[in-house]
Amino acid sequence: MKYYIGIDLGGTNIKAGVVSEEFEIVAKATCKTNLPRPAEEICADMAKVALEAVKQAGLTLDQIEAVGIGTPGTANSADGVIEYSNNLGFLDFHVVELMKTFIDKPCYVENDANAAAYGEYVAGAAKGANNAVCITLGTGVGGGIIIDGKIYSGSNFAGAEIGHTVIDPNGPQCTCGRKGCFEVFSSATGLVNMTKAAMEEDKTSIMNKMSEEMGKVSARTAFNAMREGDKAGKAVVDKYIWYLACGIANTINIFQPDILCIGGGVCNEGDPLLLPLKEQVAKEIYTKNSKKNTDIVIAKLGNDAGIIGAAFLGLAH
Ligand SMILES: [Zn+2]
Repeated sequence: MKYYIGIDLGGTNIKAGVVSEEFEIVAKATCKTNLPRPAEEICADMAKVALEAVKQAGLTLDQIEAVGIGTPGTANSADGVIEYSNNLGFLDFHVVELMKTFIDKPCYVENDANAAAYGEYVAGAAKGANNAVCITLGTGVGGGIIIDGKIYSGSNFAGAEIGHTVIDPNGPQCTCGRKGCFEVFSSATGLVNMTKAAMEEDKTSIMNKMSEEMGKVSARTAFNAMREGDKAGKAVVDKYIWYLACGIANTINIFQPDILCIGGGVCNEGDPLLLPLKEQVAKEIYTKNSKKNTDIVIAKLGNDAGIIGAAFLGLAH
């Protein structure tokens, strides 16, 4: 059996996993990222948790084929350099070169959303697809594009920013500087903002009582209220799905992938999200009577997608 190390470098945690050639995570280790810190220290910690995971798996480094790192920001996968990450405070950090001084194996780096998409492609909801797009609905909206089985990241490694395509030029301000980005509406943050606005508008909505009991407004509040028969809750869900369908239909019109996979906490809602979403997307896409339309599915690997995808980055380009 062959084994690979996948590292998911995040703003809060560094996670490493040892993944078998059958895509099973056999051991995991983690530590805090503790930002802000020098890139060199963070790299040393990535190596440390990776070695910890190898030990936990009962393996030795001899049994490891390669190391892959998924990172926020722009990762130049050809040169092994994290060119820019505002989250981590990295600028032209030669991460592959440094990692090899700790673990002398082939090493690869990739943007984290691309790595997660690759994970879903090799072992999750997009398995078997030739072309796939993965969209993660979290704090923002992340995108990863697989074309002919390879990660597509544009000519400057900064591609696949599906979240920063504009849906409404007069919409709310986005963190990227534009207005009305897909991300502003369709992220979990966007859903919470829509929910808050609706609660303000209709004080009689059960959402007010629910969020008071919970101590906060969450991305689940509107869905929960809808299930209780709350009209304002249903209106928020409908509006959220309408925007999400718009962004997804745009993406399908450009890429026409075999599979478009959506992930993130919001997707735990399951069918009440997925079924009306599919219905709306079918109305909007260009290929209304194509024999083969994009299959919209929910991501399968959850937080493990990043580790699994990173582990197999050697195959991704
Ligand atoms: Zn934006």
